[in-house]
Amino acid sequence: MPTVSNLQTTNIPGFDNPLTSFEISLDDSPQDSGGNKSWRGVQLINSAGNGYGPHATTFGDIADKIPSKPSLKKSCEKCGKRPDQEGMGYSCCSSCKIARYCSRECQTTHWKEHKRLCQSRVKYVDIERDYAAKALRDNKPFVSQASLRKWYYDNVDIVDYAIVQALELYKGRARGLRRTHAVVFSLTGGNKDAATPVAASDISFSDAEAVSFTDLARPDTLEISPVYLNSLGSGSRIILIFVPNRNGDLILIESHDLPLDEEWAAMEKDDMWRMHIRMRDVAQMMNKSD
Ligand SMILES: [Zn+2]
Ligand SMILES: [Zn+2]
Repeated sequence: MPTVSNLQTTNIPGFDNPLTSFEISLDDSPQDSGGNKSWRGVQLINSAGNGYGPHATTFGDIADKIPSKPSLKKSCEKCGKRPDQEGMGYSCCSSCKIARYCSRECQTTHWKEHKRLCQSRVKYVDIERDYAAKALRDNKPFVSQASLRKWYYDNVDIVDYAIVQALELYKGRARGLRRTHAVVFSLTGGNKDAATPVAASDISFSDAEAVSFTDLARPDTLEISPVYLNSLGSGSRIILIFVPNRNGDLILIESHDLPLDEEWAAMEKDDMWRMHIRMRDVAQMMNKSD
């Protein structure tokens, strides 16, 4: 078994909670059939945070809890059909470049419904351009909608996992909070002291919580109009909101398919789910430095 030494509590940029740092000696770690050292047996230890208390888990546990999914291929906006997740996605609306359709028919019949959202998305591109210019002048990092969207598509496994836990979908389709609540993802990333466009790979998960549609609309919170949420299909689809760095950055609002029953049949309530997601980030950082 690998040995863990030099335990020390520390703060890692991108994580709200203090983490326990440690050194791992891998001399005796098991090898896979290809002769590579396996990380599955390595234990990760996290110190207190969010009332969870000290917690230890392994890469194997994280992999079992958070099934790895390929990056997201969006379903048809009209009929909800899903493309082959391994293959090419559906083609997108040529104006907003976000809505996806399985066929010309679906796109044509959906236009009346989609028009308003499409136009507001196109307008948002101008707002974002001004915002980026201002960030540059103020010497602040800039997180674009495109970076947030890429983070979401690349991390759909933890996004889905967070959705199931935050909206309590493990209680079954009929119950849970999806009809009344959105999931707000707090993300961190970028060098706070420099005017840099933040890449998706620099963005980390910080927290996710269910927030009621009523609370989202309040002026002291995010002030998102219920009309806008409706246009995204709130109630029938899951509403996701990505908030970078909590300093007045432009947020990203998305609608997401309900997880398929078979995908999440085995999903249970996990009181440690935030910790598992953060530990996965740590696991990936460690694998990268390998
Ligand atoms: Zn369709
Ligand atoms: Zn569009």
